[in-house]
Amino acid sequence: MEDVPDPFIDLHAHSSVSDGTERPADLVAAAAAAGLDGVALTDHDTTAGWDEAIAAVRDRPMSLLPGLELSTRVGHRSVHVLGYLVDPADDALVAETARIRDGRFARARRMVERIGRDHPITWDDVLAQARDGATIGRPHIADALVARGLEPDRSAAFRGILHPASGYYEPHEAPTPLRGVELIRGAGGVPVIAHPAASSRGIVIDEPMLRELVDAGLGGLEVDHRENLAHGKRTLLDWAERYDLFVTGSSDYHGTGKPNRFGEHRTARASFDAIVDQASGSVPVHGPGSRLA
Ligand code: AMP
Ligand code: FE
Ligand code: FE
Ligand code: ZN
Repeated sequence: MEDVPDPFIDLHAHSSVSDGTERPADLVAAAAAAGLDGVALTDHDTTAGWDEAIAAVRDRPMSLLPGLELSTRVGHRSVHVLGYLVDPADDALVAETARIRDGRFARARRMVERIGRDHPITWDDVLAQARDGATIGRPHIADALVARGLEPDRSAAFRGILHPASGYYEPHEAPTPLRGVELIRGAGGVPVIAHPAASSRGIVIDEPMLRELVDAGLGGLEVDHRENLAHGKRTLLDWAERYDLFVTGSSDYHGTGKPNRFGEHRTARASFDAIVDQASGSVPVHGPGSRLA
């Protein structure tokens, strides 16, 4: 039998439509250059980059899963829910993502106002770092701090002025994870909890909440991710088995905004196929000669 390597699939990446540094078309080009057969565009709380990414994949031998990463929270704990192949025109999803982006905008303004009392930085500095209409987050404040020479790079800013313990931080308005899963399924998409074991305080949700999410249609767990801690990953694999969830692995690429490189973690073909099978909101886009077509 011929030895055909598994397709190379990475299902989590951000463009400049949220807090990545590359336009969607350039992100697709970077994914192709990294040798990926399949990539997903998962900007925070927006599908505004889809058209450009879809156009870019049409002349490359690879496939695109359009998606998004929905911001949800429980108390002060932020829970990110990836949503693949949603209907981008779904009324409830459109309304809720607009509400989250507005909440993020207002929260960033308040944080910058507080930071501005101690450091020379203005709201215009932050706007200058974000593409028009981009989902605003701490990364854009970080870039403004770097541009002002107040922090050496994004990561240092997250450890420093933007750290929740710094006194400038506040969370942004966001729905609960349960509502997030319901919204994504309601829009015909497939929900996957992003980097669930990325916190030193343990997995972002407990087992009773996981059961609620499974009942609401949770599809999978992102197990292989550079920020997931080893101990938590074992629990996630255990849960995936027990609750019949698929697992994914991905880079969470942000261009030059994070050290994460395309393909540093990958997703098995069976999980890619499960997402496509479960979805009814939209379809994957296959370029000519894609191995995933
Ligand atoms: P926010 O959602 O506005 O609180 O900001 C969190 C976002 O910042 C996450 O989605 C990450 O993509 C990004 N982020 C977190 N830590 C870092 C870091 N050290 N360097 C660059 N980006 C980061
Ligand atoms: Fe991000
Ligand atoms: Fe995330
Ligand atoms: Zn992400």
